[in-house]
Parts: sequence; structure tokens; C-alpha cells
Amino acid sequence: MSREAERTMQLLYALRSAGVTDPRVLTAMERIDRSHFLRGIFAERAHEDVPLPIPCGQTISQPSVVGLMTQALSVSPRDKILEIGTGSGYQAAILSQLARRVYTVDRFRSLVLQAREVFEALGLHNITALTADGSHGLPEQAPFDRILVTAAAEDPPGPLLAQLRIGGIMVLPVGQSDTVQSLIRVTRTAEKGFDYDELRPVRFVPLLPGIGPE
Ligand code: SAH
Repeated sequence: MSREAERTMQLLYALRSAGVTDPRVLTAMERIDRSHFLRGIFAERAHEDVPLPIPCGQTISQPSVVGLMTQALSVSPRDKILEIGTGSGYQAAILSQLARRVYTVDRFRSLVLQAREVFEALGLHNITALTADGSHGLPEQAPFDRILVTAAAEDPPGPLLAQLRIGGIMVLPVGQSDTVQSLIRVTRTAEKGFDYDELRPVRFVPLLPGIGPE
């Protein structure tokens, strides 16, 4: 077996051990090589189940957390998804394998530009990456079937709740940024009804207001 195939097998094993069991999620994560979303020395560590640094002082999430969040989102092939926090673009690339259309926004323009280049190089044509403050959502494309937030807010932002379709699901970390946060799943049940499930403790960078300097 090649070194590359062996590393991919080890990553899949780590994902299963962490509770990622949905075969569609595992297949998507087997297909999308995380090293495309990392630079320099960090690309060599792409198959390790750890968060790693990306530009603008941000981080690419741990693969098992990406897998668990994607699984919790219960994506269907016809879904239109909004991701807040493009970062490296890795999570959006995984979602692009499972859904019809993915919109992803980040407050750092340079991260959005780099992620677009990787999507283009990998032929992922169903992703639109935009520079925006994701706390306002993306009203011009709402409503969304699924919303995934990859930065922590103290509470679920109101505009995101409003842009979730009835029957839609949002997964997001909530809590103070410098402590352990909870990953929660919000299901919109009716015009103004929401069900909340607490999934597990996580640690994400904070959801910050406005557009970033870079
Ligand atoms: N999903 C990413 C990791 C995200 S790290 C990946 O797969 O690599 C969190 C990202 O959220 C950072 O890039 C940060 O710039 C972004 N972010 C923080 N606050 C934001 C906001 N209000 N709107 C949009 N993006 C935001």
C-alpha cells in the first residue's frame, strides 16, 4: 500500500473511532485530501486528526470535528447549505460532496480568495465563497436547508435562525470564545419554533463582527 493510502486509512480509522459512522460522510472525507487546504510544513500533517494553523491567525478544524459536524447536519443531496467561516475551505469542500449547493462566507478576504483557488483546482463548482460578516447570514440566498457555523458565538445569531428553512437544521458552537463551548444542533420546526440539542464540547475561534483587515 502506498504511504498516501496508508495515511488515508489511518485518518478514516480515527474518524470512525471518534463516532463518524455515516458512510456518505466517510466517503466524502476519503475523497477530499485535506493537504490541499494547508500550506508549507502543515500540509505534511494533513492526515493527523488535529487542528492546524492557516493564514490570518485562524485554524483548520480537526478532521473528526469536521466529520461529526457534517454528520450532525444530516445533509441531503438536494440541500442548499450556508457555511459561516470558510477558513481554509476544507469543511465547505466536504459539504460540496453531499449537497447541491454550498455558500460559504468568511470575514477575511484573503482566506476567501485562497479557498476559491483550491475549489477551482479541485473542480468543486457547486461552492460559492464570499467575503462577508456571517453573523448577518446571506439574506439574498436565504432560506437555507442547512447552516453550519465554524466559529463560536455566545448565542445562535438571530439572522441565521431567520434564514433557516422550516424543517432545516443548523449546527454551531456556542459559548465564550476562551473556554470550552458546546456544539449544538438547532432544528426549525415551524414559523417561529426551534428545537435545540446539545451534542458535545468543542473549541472554536470566536465569531467576530465585521470584515477582517486582510
Ligand atoms: N471551516 C474552516 C475553519 C474555520 S476557522 C475550515 O474548514 O478550514 C473559523 C473561521 O471563521 C475563520 O476563518 C474566521 O475568519 C471566520 N469568522 C469569524 N467570524 C466571522 C464572521 N462574523 N463572519 C464570517 N467569518 C467569520
